[in-house]
Amino acid sequence: MSSQTAGGNGREVWQRLMAGNRRFVQGVPLGRNLPDVRRTLMQGQRPQAAVLCCSDSRVTPEIVLDQTLGDLFVVRTAGLVLEPIGLGSLEYAVDHLRVPLLLLLGHEKCGAVTGAVLHPQEAAGHIAAIVEQLAPAVERARQTGQTGPHLIEAATEEFLRQLADDLRHRSAIIGQALNQGRLHLVVAKYHLPDGRITTLSAGS
Ligand SMILES: [Zn+2]
Repeated sequence: MSSQTAGGNGREVWQRLMAGNRRFVQGVPLGRNLPDVRRTLMQGQRPQAAVLCCSDSRVTPEIVLDQTLGDLFVVRTAGLVLEPIGLGSLEYAVDHLRVPLLLLLGHEKCGAVTGAVLHPQEAAGHIAAIVEQLAPAVERARQTGQTGPHLIEAATEEFLRQLADDLRHRSAIIGQALNQGRLHLVVAKYHLPDGRITTLSAGS
């Protein structure tokens, strides 16, 4: 199934994506005829969700949510740090493609967050810009007294929750869509060992 036949509001789309994740966890993805899907999409795209996801090669959204061509409008950056082009891309999905769901998908053992926690001074080149954006969340997580791997996971979740607030306030387009109830925002985390995705927060 692709967005061309699925439809539904943001909550319904999220339920469908979670069902896809359960299929992925169980190793029973839907069989799809990709040439058929490709032909169906020739007239245009109508993705069911916009996704901001880490660039980590282990967390490919279409695979871990068992979706196909045309289903997800995806922006990926290391650690989910957001810059103007990425934000503009999400706004395009909300304003022009009218996606009913915006998913922020972080994950366990994120290399970007790990670097920001363990070696913030060693970030070379433009990697420093990633660490800089993660730093406030790392600092807040440190204040909770967590250490080691727990600190990395706490910083990841702190950053993801902050990101949800930032999106609402930095983007008038996204803020308005949330206020009008035509966009559902979900923050979720992917677990590496079993492939499960858990919801950290959901709302509009
Ligand atoms: Zn990552």
